[in-house]
Amino acid sequence: MQSSQELHEDSAKQEPEPNLDPEDWDTFRRDSHRALDDMIDHLAAIRRRKVWQPAPPEVRDYFRQRLHDQPKSLAATLVDFDALIRPYANGNDHPLFMGWVHGAGTPVGMIAEMLAAGLNANCGGRNHIGLDVERQIATWAAQMFGFPSDASGLFVTGTSLANLIALLVARHAALGEEVRPGGLREANAQLTVYASTEAHGCIITATEIAGIGSRYLRRIPVDRRGAMNPEALVAAIEADRAAGLRPFMVVGTAGTVNTGSFDDLITLADVCASRRTWFHVDGAFGALCALAPQMRSLIAGIERADSIAFDFHKWTHVPYDAGFVLVRDADLHRRTFVNPAAYLHRASTGLAAGEVWPCDLGPDLSRGFRALKTWFTFRVFGAAHIGACIAHTCRLARYLEAQLSRSEIFELRAPVVLNIVCFGLRMFDDDDLIKSIVCDLHERGAAAPSTTVIEGRTVIRAAIVNHRTTTADIDALIEALATSAMRVMASRSHKVGCVPAQLRNTG
Ligand SMILES: *Cc1c(COP(=O)(O)O)cnc(C)c1O
Repeated sequence: MQSSQELHEDSAKQEPEPNLDPEDWDTFRRDSHRALDDMIDHLAAIRRRKVWQPAPPEVRDYFRQRLHDQPKSLAATLVDFDALIRPYANGNDHPLFMGWVHGAGTPVGMIAEMLAAGLNANCGGRNHIGLDVERQIATWAAQMFGFPSDASGLFVTGTSLANLIALLVARHAALGEEVRPGGLREANAQLTVYASTEAHGCIITATEIAGIGSRYLRRIPVDRRGAMNPEALVAAIEADRAAGLRPFMVVGTAGTVNTGSFDDLITLADVCASRRTWFHVDGAFGALCALAPQMRSLIAGIERADSIAFDFHKWTHVPYDAGFVLVRDADLHRRTFVNPAAYLHRASTGLAAGEVWPCDLGPDLSRGFRALKTWFTFRVFGAAHIGACIAHTCRLARYLEAQLSRSEIFELRAPVVLNIVCFGLRMFDDDDLIKSIVCDLHERGAAAPSTTVIEGRTVIRAAIVNHRTTTADIDALIEALATSAMRVMASRSHKVGCVPAQLRNTG
């Protein structure tokens, strides 16, 4: 510890006072303009790159250094970025990336993200324009889904957290204010939640975090098209009621992650109204069908939900991360989270003014300006054009479906409802073979579908989300699939001694 006397003497030596700004703004300007140009080149030349490549061990080792004290120039650090990071990224910006459900981002989103970082606004609260921009996105979301314009909205990391927040609001609705100080034990009622067997795994986690327990999440069976069976839902609710449990929430899925199927939201809304349960929709990407008029009917009934969770970072390509939760009852949303701490006190004017701050609506206090990149995305492209890109990915999925139906090698394994195509091999089908084909595609950097399990069998799953993907890219995917199937079969034939006829000469 230095005494104030010593501190005083230190500064008397007239050493420059430390700060983190550039020593020379002109050099900074030159270096950062070049970085921006390089990134624009990177995006413009995306098709010439591999979808993905693994980082070699020496590159991975580079990131196992001790914390260092020695400064390095921005220019030299940008060189490192170019050599060590940029080539080994996720690859979800590439048009042949079709794994999981990933957004591709946009150059416009990149610029908005840079501007947000420049302002470095803390959007947890206080009286600044960032909160108005976020409020604007909430009213746009309300408009998209047919919610009242005063519905409450909040940016979060992703739909996983948005689902959790909705569940906590629903829990508050069921158990009242007392659940906050008293917890679930005092509430003395075992709550039960309902979602289909195809619902996302984050719903399980949400019930665990919220203290409800995943044993009390009822997984309702689905029909052939992957939609929740409403009779089974009603039967499960009645059975739980009869057993003295408290059914309080039904989670409908708009666009399941496996196959892109939709629960019948109108019927679920009816069930929730008659059984007095909270109706939540996990619409992570599927809810964004709202932007494509020809697909809106898939989400009919969403306007009757109590809450909706969805992502701007998937089908609308706002750069990661940009999840959102929309709650019909704004006051209930606030009462679930609002915190009376003195340092969050509201003033009538000045920077501490304002009624509802985002920190009143969820567990985050400090939070970034996610609304800006979302606002830029909708401003620059317009909702209709984004919707057109969404609809186009579904057309491409149907094109892929048609090509596969003519293939001698591959066959469809689930109906194509949306933008997700699941398929396997017509013959010689086994889980290991499918996994090897997908690994081979990844390792060659040719394409990046993922795998999932449908009816107990591993399948190749192509989720076409990227606004950059074209019909020619689908053709390239089919060719790459055939090549990988041949390569994997050939490497196996060393062991079993045959290459099936339909896999020969497929390029
Ligand atoms: C992606 C997805 C989630 C999880 O969303 P994150 O943004 O990854 O947290 C939840 N539900 C569905 C249906 C999804 O597709």
